[in-house]
Parts: sequence; C-alpha cells; structure tokens
Amino acid sequence: MDPIVISTWKHGINSNIEAYRILSEGGNSLDAVEAGVKVAENDPEVLSVGFGGLPDCEGRVTLDAALMDWNARAGAVLFLENIRNPISVARLVLEETEHVMLAGEGALEYAILHGFRPESLLTDESTLRFSEWKSSMKKKSEEIHTDDFELKKSKHDKINEDGYHDTIGMLAMDRYGNIAAACTTSGMAWKLHGRVGDSPIIGAGLYVDGEVGGAIATGRGEECVRACGSFLIVESMRNGASPYEACRIACERVYKLNLLTSKNRDHIYQVAFIALNKNGEYGVCSVREEFQYGMFKDGENKLYDSKYLLDDDFNIKPLKK
Ligand code: ASP
Repeated sequence: MDPIVISTWKHGINSNIEAYRILSEGGNSLDAVEAGVKVAENDPEVLSVGFGGLPDCEGRVTLDAALMDWNARAGAVLFLENIRNPISVARLVLEETEHVMLAGEGALEYAILHGFRPESLLTDESTLRFSEWKSSMKKKSEEIHTDDFELKKSKHDKINEDGYHDTIGMLAMDRYGNIAAACTTSGMAWKLHGRVGDSPIIGAGLYVDGEVGGAIATGRGEECVRACGSFLIVESMRNGASPYEACRIACERVYKLNLLTSKNRDHIYQVAFIALNKNGEYGVCSVREEFQYGMFKDGENKLYDSKYLLDDDFNIKPLKK
C-alpha cells in the first residue's frame, strides 16, 4: 500500500514530514504517528501542544496524549505535567504496562522512572498570554463589581468560548496497510485545573480497528467525549459508510448533543474529525467552517480546508458526496 499521513490543523504539515519519512523507509504506522506528533510537541510556537502549550486557569500546563494501533493496543496519559513529550510516555504505557491509561502524579512518576526529564513547559509567549488572560478576567470582574463567585463564573464564560485549543491528531497507514492514530494536546487554554479532554480517551479523541480503519478528533473535547466521536466513526465505517460519511455522521451527533445541552443555538462548538479506512480512503468533516488538515500522500504534503456540516445560520447543509 502507498503510505499516507493525515493530521489536524496547520501544524500537522511539519509533523507529517517526519511521519512520512518513517513510512517511506518502511517503518510502521505506530512509530510514524509517535514521531510525527512529537514534532508539534517540541515546537514552542504551537500553543496548544506540549512545550509552549497554553496553561490552565492556574497557570499550569497539563497535557493529554494517546496512541492506538491496528491490533487495538492503546496507551494514554492524562493530566500530565512537566514532560515535553507525553506521546512517548503514552507509548511506554502501551508497550510496557498492562494498562491503557496513566494519569497525573502517577503518570509523571512513571515517566521519570523511565528516564523522562521533568522541566517547565511554559515559554515567554505562553506566560505572557496567561498574564493577559488573567488581567482581562480581573478587569471583567472589577467592571461588574462582584465577588469571587462571579469571577469564577466569568472564568467559565471565557473557557466556554472557542479558541486556543488545537490538538495535533494524526492518522497514518504504512506500506503493510496497518493504521495507527495519535493525539497530543495541552487541551483548552485556561481550562479548570484537572480538566481532561477527549484527546487521551480511546473512542473519543481517537480509535483504530485494524479490520476497518481509524479516526481522530479535534475541537471542543467535551462535545467529542459525549458523542464517543472516533468510535462512532469507525463503527459507521464498519457498517458501510465512507470515511467522509462517517465523519459527517459524527458531526451530526455532536451537533444534536450540543443542541440538547447548550442553552441557545448561538453557541455551536467546533469539533472536527478525520477518518481513514483500511483501503487507504480518507474523509474529513467538521461541525463548523474553518477546520484545516494536512495530508502527505503520493509524495505531496499539503494543507486542505475541510468540508463542514453547518451553514452560517447553524443549519445542516445538504449532503454532497
Ligand atoms: N480536543 C482538545 C481538547 O478538548 C482540544 C482541541 O483539539 O482543540 O482538549
């Protein structure tokens, strides 16, 4: 099979290069996705992943990462601090333990025990953005002359807006036709301390079934978790949907649940999905406009605009195949 790498957002382009290099040399898709997303983890200019990722509401950078292969082997770390490459800790969980997930302090201890060096993941840029956010919150609370409860509430309002969260998710197929997936993220900026998103949750942020294909997600993690987005996609493909149709089904589900849980229709959160089936066919769909993905295929690495579900009035657009 011809190798293929697809990943989320613009920063996927650089990550694809490393993943595709490994595939071109005959490497397997699990090694490719791990090495690929590490590029984004190491890049301080990527403000939503690894080193330089924006912190939570207490100024702490907490990371989620996971990977899964064609044999349903999976490893994940949740709420991990001070480790630049959480994806490689997730890989260790997959390879060396009988578990799927390690979280928080335990994940950190496990990483250190296996030679990972703890370090601050804050950069000048992320520290500056955090201070700006803090001052804007303070100003907001002073303006409304209210108490601490209101400050917390206004923090929530801010957290609930879209923005400052762009996981790198990657799907790859190697020349043996095996698919693997990885996700790694600092999650939503300014999130509550302790919050975990969809990215390290098998079935939500990513899922692979060697007989069918794989899927990954990005966007508002809470919505994706509620919909079990990636699992839904793989099951839809198992039942005959094309990768695009399957991603669209997941977007429709996210939208439906969003309508059930949000108070008004002005607040439809963005979630985007990428799917790849075992024949090497792919599909991409986002709930709203403006999702981009990078694809390295047939020797070409390019950024594309995704198809999306909703029109400007938040109504579902008719299906075009
Ligand atoms: N899904 C990630 C999260 O909610 C963020 C993102 O992909 O934009 O943590």
